[in-house]
Amino acid sequence: MKSKRQQIIKKLDYITSKIVRLKWADNNWNITCISCWKKINYKLAHCCHFIDRWCLQYRFDFDNLRPWCAWCNTYRPEYHIRVFTLKLIDEYWLEKVKEMQNNSKKIFKISIVELEELLEERKKILKKLIEQLENR
Ligand SMILES: [Zn+2]
Repeated sequence: MKSKRQQIIKKLDYITSKIVRLKWADNNWNITCISCWKKINYKLAHCCHFIDRWCLQYRFDFDNLRPWCAWCNTYRPEYHIRVFTLKLIDEYWLEKVKEMQNNSKKIFKISIVELEELLEERKKILKKLIEQLENR
């Protein structure tokens, strides 16, 4: 039996992943994998973490997440993380990427209430995103 905290985290993982995949989807609901340039339906994509999932500070942070094809994420993890690092440096700047790496080593606390608030916020974001995609 999962604790309440684990249950909220699971829901947040699910909803955040869906937002990330839809956020980068084109008008046909496809994403382009940055490693192999393959176009795939968002449902087949993975939501990948730059800073690993165990780090709660960045687990649901959109800056840390991008959609990729499942194949690259599963079978080319080293290549994938190199491309991911370059992509983030390109999109943001090197200092921010270093800051994320440094922060990920620090202790980070988040309460159940804060997690619940985040979940509610994410539900609204997802709803809006789907509406936008359907009206394109
Ligand atoms: Zn790929």
